[in-house]
Amino acid sequence: MVRKMQLLRHLREAIVSEGLSVHYQPQFEMSTQRLIGFEALCRWQVASIGYISPAEFIPIAEENGLITALGAWVLEHAIAQMAQWRLQFGFDGVMAVNVSGTQLNMKGFGVHVEALLLRYEIPAHALEIEVTESSLMSRSSIALEELERMRALGVRLAIDDFGTGYSSLAHLHKMPVQTLKIDQSFVRSLPGDADACAIVESIVALAGAMKMSALAEGIETDAQLEFLKRCGCTKAQGYWFAKPLEPSACVAFLVR
Ligand code: C2E
Ligand code: MG
Ligand code: MG
Repeated sequence: MVRKMQLLRHLREAIVSEGLSVHYQPQFEMSTQRLIGFEALCRWQVASIGYISPAEFIPIAEENGLITALGAWVLEHAIAQMAQWRLQFGFDGVMAVNVSGTQLNMKGFGVHVEALLLRYEIPAHALEIEVTESSLMSRSSIALEELERMRALGVRLAIDDFGTGYSSLAHLHKMPVQTLKIDQSFVRSLPGDADACAIVESIVALAGAMKMSALAEGIETDAQLEFLKRCGCTKAQGYWFAKPLEPSACVAFLVR
């Protein structure tokens, strides 16, 4: 509790005083190992505490209403970065940004996204919103409206950590989803664990049958990569390829 209060106080300050940063993890096409995009991941370092994981501070931001400001900051940062890379390298890939259920449930989120795309002059298909199953399945009318508006713009939608929440399959096929992100917890157990293999094969098959693509997260080993390739997963992200990087370190991938 003491640490939580301490982090909350620092986080409030970090959001207003540019104390946060964004790292970008490259995403690849499995068959060709061609760079297809980046996932924007928020980073936070406090002089007196050190590095704090988003797995710790994002839930604190969500509980205390800071996620809206934090999320808006990350979104604008990532879009601005993408605009620069498009100009500088002619990069026509995708920027994936994590969006919390709270943001999606704010009336006007879609309009905000549209305004950012216009301001930074990037096409809607260059942006992918990553949401978790629970925020997508809440069936809140505001979230659905905002998703509909983004679909109309052409913004891509990915379901993050797929398989760990509670997706209604009946609901899923009505959603404008382009990508299912296979959670790291399944990928980690490949190819030794028969259950994980069956789950991953099923997600890949489901994605294919629904004309979505499957992106495997957290690939670390040759054996995991080989298994995923064999079962037809088309997109990949993980330390095997690259860790989340500072923008300057992404340049090597963009040049190549
Ligand atoms: P996520 O969106 O599922 O992001 C993937 C996480 O897996 C990242 O952790 C990434 O660094 C890590 N990862 C990627 N490849 C590997 C690998 O090969 N091995 C291992 N062990 N890990 C790998 P990170 O950056 O700590 O972020 C954790 C979570 O925090 C994210 O999970 C996301 O849910 C949340 N998050 C991060 N940034 C934001 C943000 O700007 N907004 C929101 N709402 N959530 C965010
Ligand atoms: Mg994500
Ligand atoms: Mg994930």
